[in-house]
Amino acid sequence: MTPHASPLRVAIVGSGPSGYYAVEALLQSGRDVEVDVYDRIPVPFGLVRYGVAPDHQKLKEVTRVFTRFALDPRVGFFGNVTVGRDVSVAELGRLYDAVVIASGAGVDRAMNVPGEDLAGSHAAVDFVGWYNGHPDYRDRCFDLSGEHAVIVGQGNVAIDVCRILAKTADELRKTDIAEHALTTLARSRLKTITIVGRRGPAQMKFTTKELRELGTLPGWDVTLDPADLALDGTSAAEMAAPQSATAAKNIEVLRGFAAKPRSNPREIRFCFFAAPHRLEGEGRVESFVVERTRLSGPAFQQRAEGTGTYRAIAADVVFRSIGYAGLPMPGLPFDGRAKIVPNVAGRVRDADGAVVPRLYVTGWIKRGPTGIIGTNRVDSIETVASLLADDLPRQEGAGGRERASALLRERGVRATSFAHWQAIDRVELERGQAKGKVRDKVIDRDEFLSIASGASGEAETPVAAGVGTT
Ligand code: NAP
Repeated sequence: MTPHASPLRVAIVGSGPSGYYAVEALLQSGRDVEVDVYDRIPVPFGLVRYGVAPDHQKLKEVTRVFTRFALDPRVGFFGNVTVGRDVSVAELGRLYDAVVIASGAGVDRAMNVPGEDLAGSHAAVDFVGWYNGHPDYRDRCFDLSGEHAVIVGQGNVAIDVCRILAKTADELRKTDIAEHALTTLARSRLKTITIVGRRGPAQMKFTTKELRELGTLPGWDVTLDPADLALDGTSAAEMAAPQSATAAKNIEVLRGFAAKPRSNPREIRFCFFAAPHRLEGEGRVESFVVERTRLSGPAFQQRAEGTGTYRAIAADVVFRSIGYAGLPMPGLPFDGRAKIVPNVAGRVRDADGAVVPRLYVTGWIKRGPTGIIGTNRVDSIETVASLLADDLPRQEGAGGRERASALLRERGVRATSFAHWQAIDRVELERGQAKGKVRDKVIDRDEFLSIASGASGEAETPVAAGVGTT
């Protein structure tokens, strides 16, 4: 390793789990580092704040760990800064010795079927952002006055959406759910929620804990057609393989659901072997037409093949929860098919496959939207190992935090600091306490900035974490 006169200055774009796990890996490397985390939202923690369901507060506790990293004097935070608009990736590349993109995968995938744009048909991403008080989704409207909801996709996001739809306002009231969502959910008249999968029970993507939890929701039965539990030969072979431990447990949970007599007025139904075909309705969605499928292909690569048999499922509201996709960022290579930034072990590659010097990527934008929060730790450790192995020469006059701060100020960008977030955090906790909730989230960008201004003069002079504002 070459000795250097100045610290290794690293900009990380994105303050979700992969971003802060990259911070951790840099801090623990034993190298002399200075790290700044950028986020387009004025407050940190990305997916943990805006993706994790409000009734799963335990998962959000990881922010305490991220806060410890953020409060290290070597670490700064620039919130309310959109990289690619307020400052370009190339500019960050000149201000810092290395740039790590950890921007996640924040948009929905489309089903590409007729009727998908009817009123009442929504992306789960929008619903999740809305109930979590994400400023970009606060104005979305969800009409839950009908009796039948359909959720398309059988991953953990589908389960989150189902649980939030099924829980009563009283069960959600004490969480940090957005107030507007609580008001709408309290008026919900849903009686059935159908969770549709294009493949079979052996191919569900749920984690067992999440699946089991559906069976504990007061007032709801979980039902399915027991015939769907008879696995075909290839699926049975899949279940016998060691990597299918979760899938095998999931099937046991389904067997338990199927064996339980009905005792509740409302119903969560699992519908398997049903591919989206079209949405129908006069002006708004009324039914969701699916095509019966059969599986074909070798074990672990089985695909859903249409059989030409269709059926309509009553649907007053539809949520497509068929995975997330990354967005291209100006100035960054992008693989439009995989919706990720092309890379090898976190080193960004251009269209010709050549490594782009000093540019790295981690998290969902690196590998796609898979895994749980902790998966990002492993991912960021790999990316930071690549970065450190490159033993980057320091950039002449890079300037890092101080220069970046001056540039943003010059451009009139009202960046927020981690200390500003701490002030917002206190406000949210106090308001929450007054209402008997864990936290009452601020959901308005202007309010974020006004609390930040009140805490330390203007919210336009970014300061390193730990520089007090109280
Ligand atoms: P996911 O786990 O990839 O599930 C996507 C689902 O959509 C699959 O059932 C998939 O079926 C289906 N699908 C994809 N394209 C489809 C199409 N055109 N038509 C019909 N169905 C289609 O994605 P996710 O639920 O969005 O979750 C993203 C990641 O976040 C996952 O790793 C998840 O575990 C994680 N997460 C974790 C938690 C938690 O730990 N509590 C909570 C939320 C999310 P096929 O299998 O047939 O492709």
